[in-house]
Amino acid sequence: MSFSVTILGSNSALPTSERYPTAQMLNVSERFFLIDCGEGTQMQLRKYKVKFSRINHIFISHLHGDHIFGLMGLISTLGLLGRKNDLHIFAHPDLEKLLQPQIDYYCADLPYKVVFKPIDPRHQQVIFEDDKVTVETIPLKHRIPACGYLFRQKPAPLKVRKACIDQFELSIAEIVKIKNGCDLRLEDGTIIPNCELTEPSIPGYSYAFCSDTRYFEKLSTMVKDVDLLYHESTFTNADEQLARKTTHSTAEQAALTAKNANAKQLIIGHFSARHRDLSPYLEEAKNVFPNTQLALEGITFDVTKTQTK
Ligand SMILES: [Zn+2]
Repeated sequence: MSFSVTILGSNSALPTSERYPTAQMLNVSERFFLIDCGEGTQMQLRKYKVKFSRINHIFISHLHGDHIFGLMGLISTLGLLGRKNDLHIFAHPDLEKLLQPQIDYYCADLPYKVVFKPIDPRHQQVIFEDDKVTVETIPLKHRIPACGYLFRQKPAPLKVRKACIDQFELSIAEIVKIKNGCDLRLEDGTIIPNCELTEPSIPGYSYAFCSDTRYFEKLSTMVKDVDLLYHESTFTNADEQLARKTTHSTAEQAALTAKNANAKQLIIGHFSARHRDLSPYLEEAKNVFPNTQLALEGITFDVTKTQTK
């Protein structure tokens, strides 16, 4: 079961010649989700060879420009590419008010429908679910309403061992029951437990995207035991005052949340444009949470391979 996240943009506020603003592409069991859509996201999608047509759902954390300025361009391009399927955008209700007039003006003959899915970023709730994945909001504390997203992959269905099918001459009905977790009762009354009849199950993994937010303790409980945590770290401790003033986090605070959450791995991003060299961020975070990496553009993190260090 695939589960990976590709970083398309990792900067805050100002795009630089080296780093684009926030955007990430998630593949959960072949569902492709775009998270945030900073300016230039469509160029990054091209660069990292993501098929535009596979994106059916976009999740927007909040309505600051560095997280949404790429949306209008992407919506227009999808129309020019002849898209027919609905495009679902989960975001604060104001996004529709902001974007619909632009869609009406620039894309009057858009060949597909943009479906706005208003969410309440103040509450933790499941906003999307299908047979492979659930998506839950994570209320954050920022200057304007903001939320992160917790993606939970559902465990793979149980597989019945081929040898058992032959040995017990299982009927289709029996196989279905075993796949649903039932034991097998033989004619002589012997019970064969489910775990002896099935392959070891593959667990579902989880990914939490948390941007933008100031540090607050409760966040770690909302992402408890997550496999991979993305947490913004706009500043380092040297700019702690600025982080506080702009409701952002430092690398150390991101690491503290990962540690308290018992996350397996942390990736940090949303770097301030004032830092060309990102090593101070990494060093600071690793002091608190060793299994940290920079969320650099073009890197794909495999959520199924995250391990505690
Ligand atoms: Zn923001």
